[in-house]
Amino acid sequence: MSEQPGKLVIISGPSGVGKSTIVPLVLSHFRGRLAPSISATTRPPRPGEVDGRNYHFLRSSEFRRRLDAGEFLESVEVFGRGHWYGTLAEEVLPRLHRGVWVMLEIDVDGTRRVLEQYPQALTIFIEPSSMHELERRLRARKTDAEEAIERRLAVAREEMQRAGEYRFRIVNDTIEGAVAEICSVLQEQGLKPSDRTDG
Ligand code: 5GP
Repeated sequence: MSEQPGKLVIISGPSGVGKSTIVPLVLSHFRGRLAPSISATTRPPRPGEVDGRNYHFLRSSEFRRRLDAGEFLESVEVFGRGHWYGTLAEEVLPRLHRGVWVMLEIDVDGTRRVLEQYPQALTIFIEPSSMHELERRLRARKTDAEEAIERRLAVAREEMQRAGEYRFRIVNDTIEGAVAEICSVLQEQGLKPSDRTDG
C-alpha cells in the first residue's frame, strides 16, 4: 500500500445528470486505488437500489443518533421533505490513511462543508448538455412523481448556478466522453489506473 495519504474527490451534479452511471465506470478504471464513499440517507430505496451499495439506508432515528454521535463529516436535509443525506467519517478517513483515494457523490452544500475541512479536495461538477436534456432524463427515469421532478429541476437550476465553485466542470454529452474526461483529470492529479483489466 502507498504511504502517501489518499486524496478526496468530490463529484456533484444535478439529479438525473447521469452520476449514477458515470461514477461506477470511473471507479472501475481505478479499482483498489479509488473507493466510493457510501452515503447514509433516510430516503427510501428506489427499485433496484441495494442497502450498503447505493446508500446506507437508515431510519431517521438511527441517522439522528449517529449525527449526534459526531459520526458524519457532513450532512444535509434535501428537498425540504425530511430526507437526510450524509457522509460517514468511517467511509472516508480509514481509506485516506491507507493511501486509497475516496470519491464522494454529494450535493453543492455538502461540498462546501467538506471543503472547509479538506480544502485540497478535488471537486468535479457534471453538467447536462442542457436543462431540456436533464428534464428528459428525469422523466425517462420514471421513479419520481411530477411534483418531485419539478422540485429536482428547481434544485438543479440552483446547483448549476454554483458549478463555478468546482475546480473541474464536465459536460455529460455522452457517458463515454464524460467518463474519459473525469479519468484523465484524476490521472493528471496523480491517481494511477488499476493494473487489472477485469472491468
Ligand atoms: P438521490 O436521492 O437522487 O440519490 O440524491 C439526491 C441528492 O443528494 C444528490 O444531489 C446527491 O448528490 C445528494 N447526496 C447524496 N448523498 C449525499 C451526502 O452524503 N451528502 C450530501 N450533502 N449530499 C448527498
